[in-house]
Amino acid sequence: MQDKYAQVKLISKPENMLKTIYTACRTCYSADSPLNIYECDSAQDNEKMLKLISKVVSSGHYSTIEHIQVSFAISNISRACSHQLVRHRHMSFSQKSQRYVKEKGQFDYLTPDTIDANPELKAKFDEFMSKVSEFYLELTQNGIPAEDARSVLPNAASTSMVASLNLRELIHLANLRLCTRAQKEIRILVKRMCDALISEEPWLKDYLVPKCERFGFCDEDKSCGRMPVKGN
Ligand SMILES: Cc1cc2nc3c(=O)[nH]c(=O)nc-3n(C[C@H](O)[C@H](O)[C@H](O)COP(=O)(O)OP(=O)(O)OC[C@H]3O[C@@H](n4cnc5c(N)ncnc54)[C@H](O)[C@@H]3O)c2cc1C
Repeated sequence: MQDKYAQVKLISKPENMLKTIYTACRTCYSADSPLNIYECDSAQDNEKMLKLISKVVSSGHYSTIEHIQVSFAISNISRACSHQLVRHRHMSFSQKSQRYVKEKGQFDYLTPDTIDANPELKAKFDEFMSKVSEFYLELTQNGIPAEDARSVLPNAASTSMVASLNLRELIHLANLRLCTRAQKEIRILVKRMCDALISEEPWLKDYLVPKCERFGFCDEDKSCGRMPVKGN
């Protein structure tokens, strides 16, 4: 059964991801043409391609992975979560508009686990959402356009979007947002984005990790303790 968190589907990715990155890597160091590299035998050998890609990427030669663009259909996230996601400047978004899509009844919203866990506060939270909804409807029924009535909608209101990004940015996103210091909702969202891609491209599991796993240390003020803290 679907839980309350993000629904994520990978809707687009290049078929020949590994070969494209390999060709980009080899092109930099070979006298051969990119087309010959792309079509040559070694570009069919996954192990060989992965070895070179790992070497090139770990040396910081990131343009080679910018050729890979992936897109996700995302729904069931809060505006609080989407606001964090859209801070990533190398991503592209098409998000459900609160100007053009008018709420017709109680708007959908996401209740954080910490509130869900407290029945008394959860009841008050639901009551508050219901009051907000009533006021929103009062505004729109009295001729206030949705683009202005939305001013009363909370961060908890649900949203959906198509989000696209290249592999370099996805690795960066994973490094930041899979960290236990990131908020739970965006952590789950990004984990689902990464898992959806890893299920089709298993070799990416070593890259789509929190930054501490990538760098071998934690640089956060309040470390969760799973990795040595930088400078200690
Ligand atoms: C745990 C956590 C807590 C946070 N708390 C807050 C908060 O309290 N307040 C707040 O405002 N934000 C907060 N943020 C958001 C954070 O400041 C960043 O805006 C967000 O994580 C995007 O990261 P980024 O800039 O590295 O990545 P992206 O925008 O995805 O860019 C990727 C990389 O591209 C390069 N880049 C992009 N744009 C530029 C540029 N203009 N100049 C130079 N280099 C650039 C940088 O190397 C950057 O790391 C938080 C983020 C996290 C993960």
